Amino acid sequence: MQTLVHHGAATQAQLARMTGLSSATVSNIIRDMVDRGIVSTSPTTSSGRRALSVSLNAGETAAVGIDIGRRHVRVVLAGLGYHVLQEDWRPLPARHSAEVGLNVAVELFDKVLGQAGLSRSSVLGTGVGIPGPIDRRTGTVVEGAILPEWVGINILQQLQDRLGTPVHLDNDANLGALAQVTWGSFSATADLTFLKIGTGIGAGLIVNGRLHYGNVGVTGEVGHATIAEHGLVCRCGNRGCLETVASTSVLMEMLSRGLEAPLTTADIVQLALNRNNAALRVIDDAGLAIGRALANVCNLINPAVIVIGGPLTGLGDILLEPVRRGLARYTVPLIGQTTTVAMSSLGDRAEALGAAALVMRRSGMDVPPV
Ligand SMILES: [Zn+2]
Repeated sequence: MQTLVHHGAATQAQLARMTGLSSATVSNIIRDMVDRGIVSTSPTTSSGRRALSVSLNAGETAAVGIDIGRRHVRVVLAGLGYHVLQEDWRPLPARHSAEVGLNVAVELFDKVLGQAGLSRSSVLGTGVGIPGPIDRRTGTVVEGAILPEWVGINILQQLQDRLGTPVHLDNDANLGALAQVTWGSFSATADLTFLKIGTGIGAGLIVNGRLHYGNVGVTGEVGHATIAEHGLVCRCGNRGCLETVASTSVLMEMLSRGLEAPLTTADIVQLALNRNNAALRVIDDAGLAIGRALANVCNLINPAVIVIGGPLTGLGDILLEPVRRGLARYTVPLIGQTTTVAMSSLGDRAEALGAAALVMRRSGMDVPPV
């Protein structure tokens, strides 16, 4: 599919040459893709011989990306050429049940398909992002996740039944990382770490051009790096984790003390941009701690780029500067000097875009497949 996207229509012999696959394999794959309505074939001649020209039914096939957050659901519909056809989102009530979240996701899924004039059978697959670690052996949300109401529910099976498409599940940080190397400004980067800072803090690791899943799929738990031995007790049961000093909920709590109404993350960004001293100090401390935790990641896997995403991206250099300082202090000097740290430019669309990219990768639309 990637070859067809990049080169346009081609004969089976040309596809075999370009992909390095045997003609029998190409023939089998094409037959399957014709059955699924993804490609069409038409008779043609090649070097005077009769051949079959294969072309993508691009206008009729799309991938869906769904990002389910603590307080929102976002759905994007993307064409096979990695362009967004439709998208929509809706807020969710705090501590919503999984049932409510899934209902809204299914509703938006049908809505964007309707707006694009497509039917469910045109969907190559649906990628779904959840803010929390997922056990890849069972497709369930792991205990201790930011969405306690979702723990233990087989989201994969439920969505597959209700959407009638293949479903690929992953956590939001992994999808954010995938979005950066697919839709973002770092598409040529083979080693990238995406750090999502929100109520939880987690990283998605692209190593050698692929997402790194480890043994059971729980990786990048940078939020639980120990920063303060005798610090506050974390939701994971440990003490002084990065999340207890740098998550958005901790920043909100610290800066809301003595106020009548608690601040939102948008308020914190605005306060810092207005050079409010308390906000600047709290963000500087958080940034330094984040840099220190990231230094361990860098010393271990040496990414070329670290991209920071989540609701604090509007802080720009106010947050990046202490992160870089922490990184420089705790990494091997060469790593500190050569690692780029940047804010995500994809805003709150990163996870949904990454979910759509996951579908295309798992469907063989990109090389190497994740
Ligand atoms: Zn923890």
